[in-house]
Amino acid sequence: MNEEELKKRIIRVTVIVVICSILLCVSVFCTSKYIFEEAHKADDVQMEVEVKEYKSRISKQLDKSAQILTTLSKAYEVGSILNNPEILKISLEEANKQNSFLTLAYIPVEGEGLLNVNDGETIESYTLDDCSEMAQEAIRKSFWGEIGISKMFDSPYHDTKIFIYSVPVYQSGKIVGALAAGDTLEIFKDIVDGNTVMGGNGYVHIINEKGEFLLRSENTLVKADMSSIFDGPYMSEKTKTDARLALENGESFHGNFEYEGKKCHFYMESMDFNGWYIFCANKMWSSALSSGRLFLVIIYGFIGILFVMLILLYGGYYKFRQSAGNLIRLAYYDQVTGAKNTAGFDEEFQNFLKKNQRYSVAALNIHNFKGINDLFGKKSGNDVLCFLKKTIEENLKEGEFFCRDSADLFYVLLLDYDEKIITDRTRDIIQLVSKTSAAFGEYSYEISIYSGIAIEGNRDKALVALQSIQNSHYTDIAFYTQTLYEKTRNKIEIESCMHLALQNREYKLFLQPKNDLKTGRIIGAEALVRWKKPDGTYRYPNEFIPLFAANGFCRDLDMYMVERVCEQIRSWIDAGIEPIPVSVNQSKLLFTEADYPSRLEQTVKRYKVPSSLITLEILEDVATDDLEHLNVQIKLLHEKGFKVSMDDFGSGYSSLTMLYQLKIDELKLDRGFLKPVSEENRKRRQIILHQIIQLAKKLGISTVAEGIETTRERDTMLALSCDFGQGYLYDKPVSAGEFSEKYMKNG
Ligand code: C2E
Ligand code: MG
Ligand code: MG
Repeated sequence: MNEEELKKRIIRVTVIVVICSILLCVSVFCTSKYIFEEAHKADDVQMEVEVKEYKSRISKQLDKSAQILTTLSKAYEVGSILNNPEILKISLEEANKQNSFLTLAYIPVEGEGLLNVNDGETIESYTLDDCSEMAQEAIRKSFWGEIGISKMFDSPYHDTKIFIYSVPVYQSGKIVGALAAGDTLEIFKDIVDGNTVMGGNGYVHIINEKGEFLLRSENTLVKADMSSIFDGPYMSEKTKTDARLALENGESFHGNFEYEGKKCHFYMESMDFNGWYIFCANKMWSSALSSGRLFLVIIYGFIGILFVMLILLYGGYYKFRQSAGNLIRLAYYDQVTGAKNTAGFDEEFQNFLKKNQRYSVAALNIHNFKGINDLFGKKSGNDVLCFLKKTIEENLKEGEFFCRDSADLFYVLLLDYDEKIITDRTRDIIQLVSKTSAAFGEYSYEISIYSGIAIEGNRDKALVALQSIQNSHYTDIAFYTQTLYEKTRNKIEIESCMHLALQNREYKLFLQPKNDLKTGRIIGAEALVRWKKPDGTYRYPNEFIPLFAANGFCRDLDMYMVERVCEQIRSWIDAGIEPIPVSVNQSKLLFTEADYPSRLEQTVKRYKVPSSLITLEILEDVATDDLEHLNVQIKLLHEKGFKVSMDDFGSGYSSLTMLYQLKIDELKLDRGFLKPVSEENRKRRQIILHQIIQLAKKLGISTVAEGIETTRERDTMLALSCDFGQGYLYDKPVSAGEFSEKYMKNG
């Protein structure tokens, strides 16, 4: 997973969680709303039922009052009370006393009647015209045989509004008048105030068709100064309009109003007389009791959960981002310089390739970075790396990027692909680093950089190019080529199977005779390795020895060859053949190992071979390193009976000093001395050769001429007093078996 991918995932998870949370909230909201609406509907039904109950109780109360009047009218019908004004007066006063109406009157259709006021006063000669308009209306209904109930009107005898009921009074089947009882609405008060409705949250009032309060519950929501349900800012204009319409049409109506910040519900239903309505107000939320509270609890609960969830989500996201950020930093960035690491580079490189742009990849390395570390310490080494990072960074073009691999190896992607331009740019960096570093830090150490470049290549190819010049201080820039590629592939191929080849004994011992130049007699042999591949083909030392010398594998191979030589000598001895001394080529790496002489000793002892039969050939460049230490090793080898020969003398950095300083037994003159040269040079060479050979003789060192191919060459070397010769003139290197066959016959 890369940085981009990680970010995308975080965003995806966040979006999913947010969407889920929103869906959850919406579903909770809808469910709660549904529950609430259902509960609300249930409240409406409940309200209607309770209002109807009140309505029926009020009706019963009215009926009861009407009943009293009817009973009284029956009494007037049968007796002769009506004909006797005195008795009529007494009966009226008595009836009123017992039933405590505010007024009780008998109004005849014709003539004069009476009115008793409940304080005992009776007004005689009381006619329909003396009644208030509202009362007349009701009384007239009774003249028509109906029970009449008047609208409210101001009582002329009491300081209150009253209404009247009236019933017809018959005599001989004919309506002769009406009995009318005046009363206030207070008669319903015990009903209205009795018990509140809707589980204690509702209040019942009686209103008229204009919405004016006729009777108000004491436990009322409605303020005392309100005379109508439409007063105040409580109802919305729409509700007011709808409610008025319902009142006009005598219809029932459900509506809402706000009261002291609470949303309340009301229901009104006609009482079926006088345009009176029962108006029931209800603190809706409380009344919708559990459901309403439940709704709130659910909503608040979920909001709380959502809030906690979001906090946790954010916390988790923050932590995750932090740790993911750290992981990304560790995974994609180098801890020392802060540059990208190879994983980060490769990721960006893959994305870059998709753009189909032309490019090149450069590998940059510092010569002897290990030396800087060793000399100035790790911290200074790190400072150098940071300095190099900064220099590269400052020399990049838009769209170019780079990374630090391990140690001092950097890779840079350049958007240039022309060899000349790349060379110029790279050299600029190299020179800048070298110039700036000379004045860098407290040590002023000139950092020298080299670079391998692969045009349209990758890191591996750039590295191949880099490695091709890693030991050269003369070339600072190398481009990757096909030849380099093949060399590298060959190297990789060889290195991948060199160990196995050793186990499988694919390295074969070949021997080349060493002859006495005077007599031509074999005086010894040189062991030369041949790698026999499983397919039967041979590889020659120059194909793999330099590589093994560089990667250190020569140590193992050389010891192995010593063992094969011992094995061969042992087999000669065992076969009763007089053994000859054998020279074995030894890499310079072995001479640096302290236990080298003793390991050799153990090997010869294992095969019970006299160490004097083994000559160790060292290359002259070994000798150039540390002569003192080399002499110590040679001394040890001598003590153990081995002989030491210097190989290829004259091919490289030979010096006569070396000759007298190193206690060697044999000097092998490089075959370069036999190369054809001009006559003048030939003479000069003869002089030098003569001097070398003479010097060796004086020091007790025997001399061997390498590469003698012709009798002329042999004669030349003989004339110069060289002791021995080796070359195709005598024989080429042959397998140990063939050598034994040819030269090591019994007797
Ligand atoms: P060297 O030790 O100087 O071995 C002599 C080389 O000269 C051998 O090459 C041999 O085949 C070649 N030679 C001998 N006579 C003639 C001649 O008349 N004309 C020409 N043109 N060449 C002749 P070879 O076997 O290819 O070995 C090359 C080098 O590889 C050796 O040079 C030695 O330095 C190294 N080498 C060979 N075997 C081993 C080994 O087991 N260990 C190590 N470390 N190096 C080895
Ligand atoms: Mg040799
Ligand atoms: Mg040689």
